[in-house]
Amino acid sequence: MNSSDYLHRADWWSPLDDVTKRVKCTLCPHQCIIAPDHYGRCKVRKNSDGILYSVSYGRPVALHVDPVEKKPLYHFYPGESVYSIGTMGCNLSCDFCQNWTISQAGYDKIPSSETYSPEDIVRLTGEAGLRLIAFTYNEPTVYAEYMRDIARIAVEKGMKTISVTNGYVSADIIPELYENVHAFNIDLKAFSDSFYRKYTGASFSEILETIKTIHTLKKHLEITTLIIPGLNDSREELRHAFEWILQNTGELTPLHLSAFYPGYKRQYHAPTSPETLVKARELALDIGLKYVYIGNVSGVDNSTYCPDCHARIINRHSYRIQVEQERVCSCGRLIDIVNPGK
Ligand code: SF4
Repeated sequence: MNSSDYLHRADWWSPLDDVTKRVKCTLCPHQCIIAPDHYGRCKVRKNSDGILYSVSYGRPVALHVDPVEKKPLYHFYPGESVYSIGTMGCNLSCDFCQNWTISQAGYDKIPSSETYSPEDIVRLTGEAGLRLIAFTYNEPTVYAEYMRDIARIAVEKGMKTISVTNGYVSADIIPELYENVHAFNIDLKAFSDSFYRKYTGASFSEILETIKTIHTLKKHLEITTLIIPGLNDSREELRHAFEWILQNTGELTPLHLSAFYPGYKRQYHAPTSPETLVKARELALDIGLKYVYIGNVSGVDNSTYCPDCHARIINRHSYRIQVEQERVCSCGRLIDIVNPGK
């Protein structure tokens, strides 16, 4: 079978007219208008004879078992492993993408052979002895129908699901799309519209709306900012971002500040120094955020401490963790972690 022949009828689109058979995809703010035999910007949603199809449905290109800390989620089922899936394609085109081999590929790179139904994914998760499924590696929004169907079946089996997302999704479909998704790590790649437009191909305000909506829906939320030297690391910009998080999702929102490494179209850009990340963390803590972590570098303290008495709650070394205070800190404060276990 030719890879582009595998089609699953999409939701979230509308026909434009009977003559040209163009359609409009309404899944993300790009709102692509797609002519017959063409694809949207994400390269995995195709107009075939006036009908929009998802060509990545059932066709993951990455299936791995990871620590949940690798997503990264530090306050959601710490220490557990998560069945992680990704497909091809993305609705952003970040020139600094750290996962570009799959995110920037499209329909023409999808292997033609194996398919996995949503039931298969849930079954494989159970057979691995796991109860968490993550939609990750590339942008889950571009395979929205597949994610939604896996999550629905997973919830029926008592599992929890996770979306690691860039947040660029149409606001009005978020409650429906994410009904059965419990936890999110959303990128806040910068705090300016000019950055988003220049380096990601997206606009900025929709990202903030998604973060606020997920918080309002009372989903578990963590935020990641990839700090790129010279592009988004000014003290002023970081201050604005941290203050926005504080005011809109609250002081308890876990924030991950990650190091950039050269790749994709930024092969010659300097990586982020640990000192830059440490200073950014100090700024975030000074502004009032309680849980700020550093990602992609070693040799930093990434343990979780009680905001009240500063007792260590989770001792964390890379992806190895030890829970030291369970559910209630020794000072009496309830711990801000979903299912801390021990
Ligand atoms: S999901 Fe893809 S096809 Fe749909 S609007 Fe976004 S980029 Fe365009």
